Amino acid sequence: MIAPSPRAFVPFVSVQHMMQLIHEIGIEEMLRGIAAEIEADFLRWESFDKTPRIASHSAEGVIELMPTSDGDVYGFKYVNGHPKNTKTGLQTVTAFGLLADVATGYPVLLSEMTILTALRTAAMSALAAKHLAPRDAKVMAMIGNGAQCEFQALAFKAVCGIDTVRLYDIDSKATGKAMRNLQGQGLELVACDSPEACIEGADIITTCTADKQYATILTDNMVGAGVHINAIGGDCPGKTELHRDILLRSSIFVEYPPQTRVEGEIQQFDDDHPVTELWQVMAGTAEGRTSKAQITLFDSVGFAIEDFSALRYVRARLKDTGLFQELDMIADPDDARDLFGMVQRAA
Ligand code: NAD
Repeated sequence: MIAPSPRAFVPFVSVQHMMQLIHEIGIEEMLRGIAAEIEADFLRWESFDKTPRIASHSAEGVIELMPTSDGDVYGFKYVNGHPKNTKTGLQTVTAFGLLADVATGYPVLLSEMTILTALRTAAMSALAAKHLAPRDAKVMAMIGNGAQCEFQALAFKAVCGIDTVRLYDIDSKATGKAMRNLQGQGLELVACDSPEACIEGADIITTCTADKQYATILTDNMVGAGVHINAIGGDCPGKTELHRDILLRSSIFVEYPPQTRVEGEIQQFDDDHPVTELWQVMAGTAEGRTSKAQITLFDSVGFAIEDFSALRYVRARLKDTGLFQELDMIADPDDARDLFGMVQRAA
């Protein structure tokens, strides 16, 4: 059981505090730390309650709840995906999340998760690549240079040793922004003016675009033997990035099949299309990359356990850093049954 803080105040990590935490720890160290936390949780996969996320779709986007529990701690994330938001100055993805003590049901952490989602998505991608990409991979193509882009680039540097990132976006302003932000981070950066130029010489191809349609960011003839594809942006019914012929040539690795079959690139196939669960590769019970020529594909959609791991990583650092505020969000009368009396006394 996790001891609730006195008077049931709930620690809250604001956007400001999350940014300070990143600077205090160092972003690459934090990406490595979250990746390690996710890997440890994937290695105890069977101890988690798992369910596909609960999605509420609209013409503009999706709002989702992502719950899980390991029996001691419960967690969930609220997250949206609205590709048209950026046109009006809003973000495509925003999020917040919570951890609670299973023994009492009391929340023990509330946190912003817009930034934390970018960190955990990048950490997860890099962790998958650590297990699947060619061993000597140094060059990554990054198609889609929006909010997630720099986090992905730095995670692949920190976890996989990538030294060169080739960038392409249909909007050159996004590429310019990513080039500026990644200056001085120890990566060689190449801005490209087409997806074909972007993937030239790349060992890893990351697709991280946002469009609510069956898009074709990569066609089959663009993808050579031996690459690892990290497909981030196809994460919702009716929203994919890869031509199905690429999938037919690839060994496909997924987080949680019941969710990925609905949301991932593999929604283009019947439910019996073969996939490998990533946790089994990590546990050594399934094969990852078996040959140099093999195309490996991480069909990423984002799964609740990754958010749980990221929240636990943040929670573990709060005591030392003090980077949180106490939220009075649980009514907790001295006499547990006298909730009404507590309200009366507040008059
Ligand atoms: P964003 O809107 O900030 O950036 C998306 C970028 O893609 C934009 O710069 C846009 O110009 C570019 N783009 C759109 N179509 C393109 C095309 N055809 N070719 C090249 N570039 C193109 O979005 P974001 O927050 O960076 O998220 C990117 C995607 O990742 C979204 O689809 C989001 O839903 C998804 N996502 C997935 C996970 C996961 O765990 N798998 C987590 C977070 C976000």
